[in-house]
Amino acid sequence: MKKKGIANFGQNIGNLLAGKLSNYEYKKKVPANWDLEEDRKWILKNVNILDVDKGKIHEQKAILINGRHFGRLLTQAEVETLSKKPEIAKVIDGGHMYLTPGMSDIHCHVSMIAEHGMTMSSLHYFDGQRMRNCEYVLEKGCTTVRNSAGAYDMVHDLKDEIDRGNLLGPRILPSYIALIPVGGMWDVGKTLNKMMEIMFGGQVLRFVKNDREIIDHFDEINAMGAQSFKIYMEEKPLFGKNEKDTFNMFSDEQLKLICAQAERYGTILETHAMFLKGARRAIRHGINSIAHLTVDGSYTKEDSEAMVSNNVAIVPTFGVGAYLAYNCGSEGYPDNEEYKYFSESLRRLAMHHIEEATLPQLRKAYKGLLEFTLEEKPNRKIPPLGKVFAERCHGFALHAPQSMENFRQIGTKIGMGTDGGTGLTFCGGLEIEMESLLRYGFSNKEIVRIATLGNMEIVKKDDELGSIAEGKLADMLLLKENPLENLFTMTEPVKVFKEGRCMIDKLEKERG
Ligand SMILES: [Zn+2]
Repeated sequence: MKKKGIANFGQNIGNLLAGKLSNYEYKKKVPANWDLEEDRKWILKNVNILDVDKGKIHEQKAILINGRHFGRLLTQAEVETLSKKPEIAKVIDGGHMYLTPGMSDIHCHVSMIAEHGMTMSSLHYFDGQRMRNCEYVLEKGCTTVRNSAGAYDMVHDLKDEIDRGNLLGPRILPSYIALIPVGGMWDVGKTLNKMMEIMFGGQVLRFVKNDREIIDHFDEINAMGAQSFKIYMEEKPLFGKNEKDTFNMFSDEQLKLICAQAERYGTILETHAMFLKGARRAIRHGINSIAHLTVDGSYTKEDSEAMVSNNVAIVPTFGVGAYLAYNCGSEGYPDNEEYKYFSESLRRLAMHHIEEATLPQLRKAYKGLLEFTLEEKPNRKIPPLGKVFAERCHGFALHAPQSMENFRQIGTKIGMGTDGGTGLTFCGGLEIEMESLLRYGFSNKEIVRIATLGNMEIVKKDDELGSIAEGKLADMLLLKENPLENLFTMTEPVKVFKEGRCMIDKLEKERG
């Protein structure tokens, strides 16, 4: 991938330290065999088609695919007459499996790699890992992602390669550079800020001083093609700095200005918030969605109601709660049941994702991060940032049940995202998100809707994606089981189609 300035310098040093003069050539996965041209009509028959909005299986067992879009549902008699017509290029038998729309991950970072234990020579493999992240998303059944911040050159390159058919991956809705006030979260000083650009392949965060810089920022990322705008509203550190320190946050006046920019461009706004003060300010201003849950208290019924009336959705990213479940000995809340749940789910799920999703050359670093998180370490530090504040980190788990209970009772809009690319979360790895929603009282039917149509409603793409409906883009998953009975079948699709074309076919592999 093309890098500029310090990011390119870092790439060259990384190559040299790995003993290589050129960039690493990642061996990309080959797409499934597919012999139909883009505009042809074909039929998928003998499938149980799921209506995710109503949470039931359609009576008709076949569907017409009209090029890149869904056509209408067909009865058995219609399949018989239509299949004889010359305009139908093919009839595929779904073998009585289940058909759902493609899922999505609306908070992740496909261009990011967990930095723990990485050396300069690891940089040699980073572009390969970026490509692998995209392939994994699709293998896990996600055909769309919102990329919530990532360096322009990296994200744009991946998006471009996927759109041209050179790389297996999801449709990417990019945010590119995220906005933070000077002295806000992640403003860790000039040197470390530059180091981050080496790791991330360019600028991911912009720290602004005044209104002019805010306006210029949105002009710039809109020109880049950002389809979602990302800001940070964070009050205090989870680790590093001092426990008493607070971050600068955007004021009400600045938030008004930010919302006006989003409105000017007709673009959705997303904010990071893990403390109630920032989250509540975002709710007051009607920011479209908030990422993560809060660590210093639960969202109240009043908060949940305000979210409903201001159209603010929550994307809890339970995976973040799992990697924040650092084992700090007796510090924090080690005896709390929710802490134990998150710690246990990390132990159970992260290793699976590491084995499946990471390049062998980087796997040791990922496993090291998992061991580091699970190992008992009182007075724990995260290099190079500093001390971990255990009560805040474990606060995610501690306050999750009450927040989720209030959201569920009031009907606050919930989205699904992994925060993949940070810590021990993996883009498209939705298992922990599904498991946690089940734990907090949501039904299979509700969770299937959240992962598909609900997510697309949040990113305002539900007119073209998120359900199997005539005219929408034909992103779909063929599943062994009924997801209304076994939710997790959705994370192991047998076939993955994007815009009417089969991209991944596990049956083909089995047949050799
Ligand atoms: Zn994130």
